[in-house]
Amino acid sequence: MLLTTTVGSLPKPEWLAEPEKLWAAWRFEGEELARAKERAATEWLAHQEAAGLDIVTDGEMFRTHFVHGFLEHIQGIDWKKKTPMGIRDNRYTVDVPTVTGPLSRPHSVHLEEARFVRKATRRRLKFTLPGPMTICDTIADAHYGRRSDMAMAFAEILNAEARELSAIGVDVIQFDEPAFNVFMEDVKEWGIAALHRAVEGLDCKTAVHICYGYGIEENLRWKDTLGSEWRQYEEIFPALNASRINQVSLECAESRVPLSLMSLLKDKELMVGVVAVTPDRVETPEEVARVIRRALDHVDPERLFPCSNCGMAPIPYETALGKIKSIAAGTALVKKAL
Ligand code: ZN
Repeated sequence: MLLTTTVGSLPKPEWLAEPEKLWAAWRFEGEELARAKERAATEWLAHQEAAGLDIVTDGEMFRTHFVHGFLEHIQGIDWKKKTPMGIRDNRYTVDVPTVTGPLSRPHSVHLEEARFVRKATRRRLKFTLPGPMTICDTIADAHYGRRSDMAMAFAEILNAEARELSAIGVDVIQFDEPAFNVFMEDVKEWGIAALHRAVEGLDCKTAVHICYGYGIEENLRWKDTLGSEWRQYEEIFPALNASRINQVSLECAESRVPLSLMSLLKDKELMVGVVAVTPDRVETPEEVARVIRRALDHVDPERLFPCSNCGMAPIPYETALGKIKSIAAGTALVKKAL
């Protein structure tokens, strides 16, 4: 019970890429870069094990960005054809690459990396992939015509990738779907159907991460507009509870999400965010324990997985390290009392 984990991404060490920056450029090339990424992943595995996390990840050391790191390897995308897009329902505008032809995956994207981390740890291993809806909210479409059709094409590709990861012993495959908190109607219409396509035939556990985003300016401003109670989850949790996905993650640390919404996921395992992804402060184990205890009013300990609110890629390395230690230490406090 109370198995601890993180959402997945962790900060890259400053010798690997410029710190505290999304899309930071690598400091190496070719073979040297490949070895450097492995070294960074090995270090984070050691940190997670030393802290006492039960389900570890590669920290996403192998990819530049949680969506583009995957898309770089997909055919059918024109990276030179940039289209300005209002991401997450116009929260911010980015020039994104454009899908100009049928999508395909000519070769595995993360298989070798996953094999490397699988060999490097005996702990339960989670691997993260971008979710189909979030991918479609990060790339422009000049080929499929309907977002749901493009999402299904990505879901098929993600499924092929996920099957390979599952086959080499990855225990949990998590799809990151921050867009689920924005396009709630689409989630019910086709978002969950796309996820179902992505998890088809998988033997491992499956998870979906839904959040209020990295702790960056644009997201903090957006959160300010959401009022005293954040009830986005309420619209999608019933459909998710009826879905075939095993685990759902939700933000609970320093968030205005009413914890009672957990009762809408009574058939799921819940990854409960017990630390925020703020760059400037590390929660104490006691603070973490407090969030877990409040969550335990709504979910039994077997289904509760203490976790981070979101990915920690853009925060300082030492802060993230402190936070994973607090996740584990805070959970230990609660376990002792149980
Ligand atoms: Zn997130």
